[in-house]
Amino acid sequence: MRTTVGWRAEGPGTTLRRTPLERRELRPDDIAVQVDFCGVCHTDLHALTARTGAQDAPLVPGHEFTGTVTEVGPEVTRFAVGDPVAVGNIVDSCGVCVMCEAGQENFCREFPTLTYSGTDRHDGSTTLGGYSREYVVRDRFVYALPAGLDPAAAAPLLCAGITVWEPLRALGVGPGTRVAVAGLGGLGHLAVKFAVALGARTTVISRTADKADDARKLGADDLLVSTDEARMAEARDRFDVVIDTISAVHDLGPYLRVVAMDGTLSQVGYLGPVAVETMDLLAGRKKLTSAGSGGTPATAAMLEFCAEHGVTADIELLPSARVNDALDRLGRNDVRYRFVLDMSDLSAG
Ligand code: NAP
Repeated sequence: MRTTVGWRAEGPGTTLRRTPLERRELRPDDIAVQVDFCGVCHTDLHALTARTGAQDAPLVPGHEFTGTVTEVGPEVTRFAVGDPVAVGNIVDSCGVCVMCEAGQENFCREFPTLTYSGTDRHDGSTTLGGYSREYVVRDRFVYALPAGLDPAAAAPLLCAGITVWEPLRALGVGPGTRVAVAGLGGLGHLAVKFAVALGARTTVISRTADKADDARKLGADDLLVSTDEARMAEARDRFDVVIDTISAVHDLGPYLRVVAMDGTLSQVGYLGPVAVETMDLLAGRKKLTSAGSGGTPATAAMLEFCAEHGVTADIELLPSARVNDALDRLGRNDVRYRFVLDMSDLSAG
């Protein structure tokens, strides 16, 4: 085993503490990455708040990071020491099922290995995430970070970005498509940037008008306040695609009603059981779908698109020692629009 240091939760509660961590020695197709920047995803907060007691396994969150290759296994050919790279929320998959063969490792029939709180396919250990100074990862799940992308602002692309990129592409969003993005947070603001860059007419649906100026700066044409019943009624049957990134349980009705005939609501935010009034689907033959993360080809394509179109996240960069503040503020919706942790402070004693 090799040792590094990171931010770990033990027992109940969301507080993380700086702790030495073990990483595996490199397998032949592994890469060791010095984690330079790691995004703070709302999923990290969900994972921490779901902890109930001392019996929970220690948790090191973090599943969207950029860094530098420090060592490669003997079978690795795509990367060399010193390369700038990025890693997302999937670090392995079976590689042989129909989903993996289609380049959709995110839907691996044997379940993809998650970057944290996943189960390593070889030794059964629990994976520890990127809120740490080093990560050891199979080369297939490492992406070259294109030149020109700021490594701190690019880190959130690897979870927030790809999670909205795949459905936007799968739903054929392009010039002239009318897209609405519900919830302007980490995922939502990247969905707006992507939809705009793809040529869509883009609207934000938010709980208040507070983010209206930001929505326009991100390139959106409009912001609808979800509680403004008159404006939501005017927007009935308007959008070909609605990407719902809302992090809490909510009524899908208002968001389905603004979907156009034969259009689609893709719910990628809150994941769990939902109740749907079938009349909201029937009236207009509307479709409800979901998505999560992305396959390796789509992730590489997204990074190239970002380099070409200058798309990165709007971030607030904090030293990793401020991780608990970041999580606290994220829970209060006090971030525009993604916290990213600078992990270099973990190199100091
Ligand atoms: P975030 O930055 O906190 O943004 C969530 C946004 O949802 C908020 O900015 C807010 O937007 C809106 N919102 C929050 N509470 C709400 C409520 N009670 N009612 C209505 N709107 C509310 O979170 P994120 O990191 O973007 O993540 C969003 C969700 O996606 C989380 O649940 C996360 O776990 C999930 N996620 C899923 C995947 C996947 O694979 N499908 C991947 C990553 C994350 P406004 O202020 O504009 O209203």
